Amino acid sequence: MTTLTETQTDEERGTVIPLHNLPTLSEKVARLNQRAEKMGVAPMRLVVIETVDRETVNEHTGLTHRERFARVDIEGESPVLDGWSLVSRVTLADNGEALTLTVPGQTCPPEFREVDMARCDHCKASRRRKDVFVLLHEDGQHIQVGRQCLADHLGHVSAEWMLMLATWVRELREGCADASEEGWGGTEPQIETLQYLTATALVCRRIGWTSRAKARLDDTGTVHATSSHAWSLCTGPGNSDTQRRHWREWVEENDLHVSDSDRADAEAALEWARAIEPGCSNEYLYNLGVAARQYAVTTSTSGLMASAISAHQRVLDEAVVAVERVEAGKKQKHIGEVGERRRFNDLACVSLKTFDSDYGPRTLCRFDDLDGNVVIWWATGTAPEWLDSDGVFDVVGRVKAHEDYNGTPQTVLTRVRPATDGDK
Ligand SMILES: [Zn+2]
Repeated sequence: MTTLTETQTDEERGTVIPLHNLPTLSEKVARLNQRAEKMGVAPMRLVVIETVDRETVNEHTGLTHRERFARVDIEGESPVLDGWSLVSRVTLADNGEALTLTVPGQTCPPEFREVDMARCDHCKASRRRKDVFVLLHEDGQHIQVGRQCLADHLGHVSAEWMLMLATWVRELREGCADASEEGWGGTEPQIETLQYLTATALVCRRIGWTSRAKARLDDTGTVHATSSHAWSLCTGPGNSDTQRRHWREWVEENDLHVSDSDRADAEAALEWARAIEPGCSNEYLYNLGVAARQYAVTTSTSGLMASAISAHQRVLDEAVVAVERVEAGKKQKHIGEVGERRRFNDLACVSLKTFDSDYGPRTLCRFDDLDGNVVIWWATGTAPEWLDSDGVFDVVGRVKAHEDYNGTPQTVLTRVRPATDGDK
């Protein structure tokens, strides 16, 4: 429960800030509150009036952008001095307009908003003043007092003290206003997790999956990681006309428009990733589970979260393959003739394992073809760059042997390379 000041409704009260700026703002308020003790007054409180979820749909991509905001305000008791409390400080701006700063919980009466800066209710002298204070007495009477007369009026309290109080209140207020900016106080930019995964599913469907590692290997500057594409899709173009035009061209050229299947893939992948047990022994899956349970993705978790779509797809594929294997029973068979050099299409790379041997490292590359038949290849050295363990490849290789491994027929290849259009 929060109390409201008399003249403000919930709707107009406080400042709306991105929710992820709240921890930094709380720290700032706590720091500012250390001054309260020195001034001998009670600290002010940062209150969250409400949190608001906002959804907008991007007109170009159809992507639903979700943002979470907090409406916050500063609350506190105004210190009372000899029956008087500070309501507002009014200063004259360079252009002659009066700036009013009102203490939280106090209401500046309208007649003092358009304040006559020459007036001082203490000395009654009319002269140019740049700094006046509106005070409220316990009996309900408001007066305005010039800065020079403040100490006189309040007896033991100095004008410096009152200035310090007013400055403190101003900085608390400004802290809230500054926190309404995205990226304030060094907070990382964020994208709501489901929105980000939907963008990732869309990029995977239209452009294909590219890991960050693979994008780094590229030296042509034309291969970008799926996570970078998805991030750009979520954050939209920069501010310049050129950036906006390029972004829209990129969206249209790649037909980056969200479909129902993208939304469904993202929801299923998120549900799967969020359910990964915290006790999971696989470090990748453990981290994926932790990242998936956050409201938003940051630049440091974006690569990991992007992989959730393809990781989940692999889990689904493996389940399908496992079911098909059971159904196929002993139908797995050897492929080709021993000694024959030929093309093998749609080999899904299932695992890559590098072993040290007396002759240097060798890598066991295991593939499944579309019928679930097992193909293996011992590559010299580590896995070749064109191969990764989540891709599907067309290759050319020589059938070296037909072997059985734990009752499963496996076709052993040598001299494997990626197939080109002319290969048969
Ligand atoms: Zn005066």
